[in-house]
Amino acid sequence: MERFEFHYHVDILTTDSRLVASSAALPKSAAERLFRQKVEEYRQQTGKFIVRPATERDWERGFVGAVRLAENHKLVIALTRCDCS
Ligand SMILES: [Zn+2]
Repeated sequence: MERFEFHYHVDILTTDSRLVASSAALPKSAAERLFRQKVEEYRQQTGKFIVRPATERDWERGFVGAVRLAENHKLVIALTRCDCS
């Protein structure tokens, strides 16, 4: 059986990093697909997102472990690497 040291979550948060929803633990390819789906889904409700790689500054803002973020005036969708189990 293949061993995953890390897995990924797609988290929906407010812009001040309060968690609204979080996906199950996923392998990277599935998480990337879900991230794109969620960006599209929430775009229709809340408006256009800016999608970019996450930085240390984003981690300091509370989006800890994020590797990619989609952000608009209302929500942040984070693709987050995680080692919870
Ligand atoms: Zn996890």
